[in-house]
Amino acid sequence: MATALSTAQNLVGGRWIAPAATLPVCDPQDGSVISRVPDGTDEMMAAAIEGAVAGAAVAEKLSVHQRLTMLRRAAELVEARSETFAYTLACESSKTIREARAEVRRAVDTLRLSSEESARITGETIAFDRRPGAEQRSGFYERVPVGVVAAITPFNDPLNLVAHKLGPALAAGNAVVLKPASLAPLSALRLVETLLEAGVPPEVLAVVTGSGSRLGGQLVSHPGVGLVSFTGGLETGRRIARQAGLKKLSMELGANSPVLVLDDADLDLAADAAVSGAFSNAGQNCLGVQRVFVHRRVLDRFVARMVERTRALRVGSKLAEDTDMGPLIAEREAVRVEQWVREAVAEGAEVLAGGARRGAYYDPTVLIGAPAASRVCRDEVYGPVVGVYSVQDVDEAIARANEVDYGLQAGVFTRDLGRAFRCIRGLRVGGVMINDSSDFRVDQMPFGGFKGSGLGREGVHFAAQSMTETKVVCFNLTESAPPGEMA
Ligand code: NAP
Repeated sequence: MATALSTAQNLVGGRWIAPAATLPVCDPQDGSVISRVPDGTDEMMAAAIEGAVAGAAVAEKLSVHQRLTMLRRAAELVEARSETFAYTLACESSKTIREARAEVRRAVDTLRLSSEESARITGETIAFDRRPGAEQRSGFYERVPVGVVAAITPFNDPLNLVAHKLGPALAAGNAVVLKPASLAPLSALRLVETLLEAGVPPEVLAVVTGSGSRLGGQLVSHPGVGLVSFTGGLETGRRIARQAGLKKLSMELGANSPVLVLDDADLDLAADAAVSGAFSNAGQNCLGVQRVFVHRRVLDRFVARMVERTRALRVGSKLAEDTDMGPLIAEREAVRVEQWVREAVAEGAEVLAGGARRGAYYDPTVLIGAPAASRVCRDEVYGPVVGVYSVQDVDEAIARANEVDYGLQAGVFTRDLGRAFRCIRGLRVGGVMINDSSDFRVDQMPFGGFKGSGLGREGVHFAAQSMTETKVVCFNLTESAPPGEMA
């Protein structure tokens, strides 16, 4: 299956260019250099933005059937090359080959949904005659592209999260400048290449790799950019919001998602979901389960199930078919997670499973009794660590789930409809999954958070809508006879 991972060019102003300076891309498993990508310069970014501003005029003239066809073709090409995409993704990121294949399937779906969405960028007629005196007005609103979308993406889902920006942006008739994560830029470059092959005009799309903190300011503050679509950490999101100024922003940020296990829950179902939600992609998942609030009556039985399942996970080589969990994205991240767990233990938490590090690998870890103020509870761990907390009743579970600065999604396990609705109404999050983990997601649902988890919603339809401006058109139908003629 081995394939060359060379992706040494950036697409700028409609042309692939290869600057002299490059950055290494490493496999986090062993630190080996697997490829090199351009170390984008300020000049390259300036040319990419100027090119996209010109490309926006090309993008908005693409007919719906052209957009629909090119995005459908891109989905077909990614699907036909699934194994190559999965291999690239597994090498550059933390994902096991099975997780990588699942992400490729989702990216195909995201592109298909985007293709379908091209035909839904519509408006509706307006009842102007709602106001007395406006009976002779008729009209509608329509949606027009924002022009240039700046797309900035994180390392954790390096293909599908890029598809979630490029697909809707192109569906809505925009040009895009993409700045992918430096730790995992290869799948993004391959996707851009595939989109061109599928018929996307090269001047409509640009990709520049290199340091976000160096290149990002220029991109997000440029007056030619109509919308900044960012997925990444809270602190980076805050910086971007300050730099972007008065501009449309879409922010998909972090979380420390809760799962509530009530005393009537199916404990096997809850334990399966909590373990899978906590440890998939080595816990580097914005929706990952980080805090599990369990009714005290079922605490012991639930914890036994969770610990047993956690200990059964196979940690190892990402390309081995039977591996359940790979390394973190970099050794320094595993060291940080180790430090946070040590702190929690010093503050009173107990390690029930895991708790050991080898290089970039950190064992799937279950803690119990961490104080609410500890970092593993309050902040985003972004690693394979989950905390279990005992609660007296549903109201305490809801209050504890809400006591953080994030609010992306939550899971609730109960068989009682009334209590499920109490949780749905009480939880300050963008999505509540009943009898599923907080990390359940399909790519068409509205997706985004409350509080520090973000601004706006992704999910193909919602992202595409946000990448448009609304324009109202009104006709005054009062007839006036031309001079010299009778009506
Ligand atoms: P990050 O450090 O915030 O980086 C995300 C992207 O922003 C990267 O491309 C990065 O470039 C770029 N960047 C960094 N500084 C910038 C600046 N000043 N201006 C513009 N761009 C800048 O996040 P990450 O570590 O890659 O990803 C993990 C975070 O993403 C977690 O917090 C996770 O929860 C969040 N996330 C959220 C969602 C969601 O949908 N809500 C989904 C996935 C991940 P470099 O790589 O070159 O630094």
